[in-house]
Amino acid sequence: MATDIDRVAVLGAGNMGHGITEVAAIAGYDVVMRDVEEELVEDGYENIEWSLRKLAENGEIDADPEAALGRVETTTDLEAAVTDADVVVEAAPEKLALKRDIFADLDEHTDDAILATNTSSLSITDIADATDNPERVVGLHFFNPPVRMALVEVVHGERTTEETADRTFAFAESLGKTPIHVREDVNGFVVNSILGPYVEEPAWMVSDGDATVAQADAAMVHERGYPMGPFELSDLTGIDVAYHVREEAGKPIPSVMAEKVDAGDLGRKTGQGYYDYEDGDAATYEPEDGEGFDWFRVEARMVNEAAKLVGGDVATPEEVDTGMRLGTGFPEGPCTRGDEHGLDAVVEKLHEGREQTGSDRFEPADFLVELVEAGTTGVDAGDGFYEYDE
Ligand code: NAD
Repeated sequence: MATDIDRVAVLGAGNMGHGITEVAAIAGYDVVMRDVEEELVEDGYENIEWSLRKLAENGEIDADPEAALGRVETTTDLEAAVTDADVVVEAAPEKLALKRDIFADLDEHTDDAILATNTSSLSITDIADATDNPERVVGLHFFNPPVRMALVEVVHGERTTEETADRTFAFAESLGKTPIHVREDVNGFVVNSILGPYVEEPAWMVSDGDATVAQADAAMVHERGYPMGPFELSDLTGIDVAYHVREEAGKPIPSVMAEKVDAGDLGRKTGQGYYDYEDGDAATYEPEDGEGFDWFRVEARMVNEAAKLVGGDVATPEEVDTGMRLGTGFPEGPCTRGDEHGLDAVVEKLHEGREQTGSDRFEPADFLVELVEAGTTGVDAGDGFYEYDE
């Protein structure tokens, strides 16, 4: 193993915690998985057992499933879980106060372990501030399900040291994952920052009467190659999740989203969302339904979001594009797409969106404007987010 890490502690045996434990055990680490009740750790352990057998049956892992399972210990005792750990990965519920309590307790029981959180949306800096060791705290954002998803975002809080970030990156690589550095803990990190406009812009277009749900989904999937339409994706993740992220960030909410949440139609989990999963046919749309949908408006906003991340040194174009391909199955990342469209065309599209809607969500990122002013407008110019050979 190419790291100085032997022993891993995972806090939480739920959806993500059991998956992260399984990934670490498959990679050969000794792992202790901790939850607050015996029954919960047992459930998590059984999920790992089931999943390991399945992976082995399907020939998807080289590791011996019994040996991997043998490397997993369970406990409800925090001290026993973390005392000898070189890395602690917290995968408890997404509540800031709870995570801060957990990290404050880690001060007492750890020396120089990496203290990682799997949070999707909370600030790493806010979590780290609860400890005396913010330099050891880092985001280690796995995607669901951890055994299948290759991407891991390594998120730097304000006081995370380079050493911590680099050790965490090496640890993620040793798990067989493809990590990307996210050098500032911006809301949504890389992947969810770009997914924001993918889901939000079509919701504005439907709210404003400029498109229909099936039209947007059909166009994005059949014309632009995304694995799932924006409304279909919202139904899967829960319309309330996107709603609350916007509410917390103080952002305006498209009416079509608010109406669904008010009605309790939150997506697949309630049987009803943008599509009907109970009596209807779920997400049914045909390729031709997408005709006339202004998909460039959506992609221009994703490129703009990417430019904010690259211009702010949060991530490189390669990291943004890798994140979107591996984290969401996008056929191409927004930096590649932006260069293909021509960044001048993207800026023009943003201006057009602003004129049509009056909304500052189309405000072009400084970095995007700089690229265009420098004439580095993408593939045709030989230089854009990326450089292209003649
Ligand atoms: P979950 O509710 O399935 O599991 C959380 C588990 O943590 C529960 O079993 C709970 O009993 C346990 N827990 C509560 N307090 C604890 C404590 N003090 N110590 C140890 N365990 C404790 O939640 P989840 O979906 O696994 O999400 C966990 C984290 O991962 C959240 O921060 C979430 O935002 C993040 N995340 C989730 C996904 C996803 O798709 N589910 C993807 C990426 C990241």
